[in-house]
Amino acid sequence: MNSNQFPILIVGAGPVGLSLALSLARAGIQAEVFEADEELNTQIRASTFHPKTLELFETWGVVDDVIKHGYKVNQLQYWERASRTIIADFDYQVIAKDTKYPYRLQCPQHIATRVLKPAVEVTEFGKVHMGHKLIDFVDCGTHVRARFETKNGIVEKDGSYLCGADGTHSTVRKQLNIGFQGKTYEDRFLLIGSDLNTNDLLPNAAQVCYVFDPQEWVIILNLPDIVRVVFRMQNDEDETIAMQEENLRKRISNFFGEVPDYKVKTTQLYRVHQRVADTFRVGRVVLVGDSAHNNNPSGGMGMNSGIHDAANLTEKLERIRNGEADSILDDYSTERRKYAIESVQLYSDQQYKNMAMTSDEERVKRNESLAEIANDPAKAREYLLKASMLEERI
Ligand SMILES: Cc1cc2nc3c(=O)[nH]c(=O)nc-3n(C[C@H](O)[C@H](O)[C@H](O)COP(=O)(O)OP(=O)(O)OC[C@H]3O[C@@H](n4cnc5c(N)ncnc54)[C@H](O)[C@@H]3O)c2cc1C
Repeated sequence: MNSNQFPILIVGAGPVGLSLALSLARAGIQAEVFEADEELNTQIRASTFHPKTLELFETWGVVDDVIKHGYKVNQLQYWERASRTIIADFDYQVIAKDTKYPYRLQCPQHIATRVLKPAVEVTEFGKVHMGHKLIDFVDCGTHVRARFETKNGIVEKDGSYLCGADGTHSTVRKQLNIGFQGKTYEDRFLLIGSDLNTNDLLPNAAQVCYVFDPQEWVIILNLPDIVRVVFRMQNDEDETIAMQEENLRKRISNFFGEVPDYKVKTTQLYRVHQRVADTFRVGRVVLVGDSAHNNNPSGGMGMNSGIHDAANLTEKLERIRNGEADSILDDYSTERRKYAIESVQLYSDQQYKNMAMTSDEERVKRNESLAEIANDPAKAREYLLKASMLEERI
C-alpha cells in the first residue's frame, strides 16, 4: 500500500491545525482537518502575531487578510508601576532591515482562524470537517486509521500521517501516553476587555505595555476594537468576588486613577502552564502546537511557535512526499522540542520573572539592564529579533 495516496489527517482547527493544513495544501499535499466543535472557537486567547509568523502567512497567501483585521504595534514598552515611569521603550524600526514586518500585529486569534479556514477550503488539496471529534486511532505501520464521532455516527478515515493539533488536553498525546512535564504557575491572570482609551489614561503609553510590579503587574494590549488589560491576581483573592463588575471596575481605577465612562466587554480568569511533551513524534503520529508545548503567554509566543511547528513539519512532509525516509520526522521532533525549551520557555519565563520581581536590588538591575539594551540600537535589534522569534537573524 502506498501511504501517499492518503491525506495527512490533522486533529483540531485551531490556529495551528489550520496553518498546517494551509501550508500542506499550498505545497500540493492533501490535508484534512477534523474539528470536534461545529464552529471555530471564539474564546479570548492569543492576540499577538510576531514578524516571523507574518512572513509565513505571506508564503501561504493570507498575510494581507490577517493584517487587515489587526493593529500594527511599533513599540514595546516596559514600565514600573510604583513610579509610573517607562523603563525601556523599544522601537521596531531597529529591525526594519531584518524583516518586511517590523511590528507585532495585534489581532484576535479567533479572527485569524476565520481567515485561515476559508483559505484552506479554497485550495485544491485542503478540507476542513467541523463536528468531527477524534475518538481514537491505530498506527497500522503503512498508514493511520482514525475514528471520529459526528452527529451522524462514527466516521473512519485513513491517513498517511496523523497530526495532533488538538490543544493542551490533546487526545492524540494522551492516547500515545506521551509525558507532558512542566509546571503550572501559581499566579492567576485576570483579563478585562473594555473600550477604555489607554492612551489618554497613561500618557506616553504604547499600544502594548508590560507594567512591572511585585504585587500586581499589569499588561496592556490594544486591539482594533477592544483593549485588554491583564492583572495578576493576588493569591488570597476569591475568584467570584474578584469577577464582580464593581470589583473589576475598582481594579481598573486603582491602576489608571479616575476613568471616564466605559464598557466592560469581556472578562477572563485563567491559569498558565509551562510544559513540553517528551517527544513530538511516535511512528506515523506527530504533535504540533499546544498539544506539544505550553508556555506562559506574557511573551505572546505559544500560538506563534505552534504556527512555526506547522512550517517545519510541512517542510519535512514535503521531503517525505519527494522520496526521503520518514525518519526525518525525528528531526522535526528534536528541532521543535529544542526550540520550545531553549527559546520559547526561556524567554517567556524570564519575561514573567521580570514582571513580578520582588527584591529591590534585582529590580534596579533589571531596570538598568533593559534601559541599556533599549538605548543601544545594536542591542535593541538583538533583543527585538529574539522577542520577534527571529533569533536566527542575529
Ligand atoms: C489569554 C491567552 C492569551 C494568549 N496570548 C497569546 C499570544 O498573544 N500569542 C501567542 O502566540 N499565544 C498566545 N496564547 C496561547 C495560544 O492561545 C495557544 O498557544 C493557541 O491557541 C494554540 O493553538 P492550537 O491550534 O495548538 O490549539 P487550540 O487553539 O487549543 O486548538 C485546538 C483545537 O482542537 C480541537 N480539539 C480538541 N480535541 C479534539 C478532538 N478530540 N477531536 C477534534 N478536535 C479536537 C479544539 O476544539 C480546538 O479547536 C494565549 C493564550 C491565552 C489563554
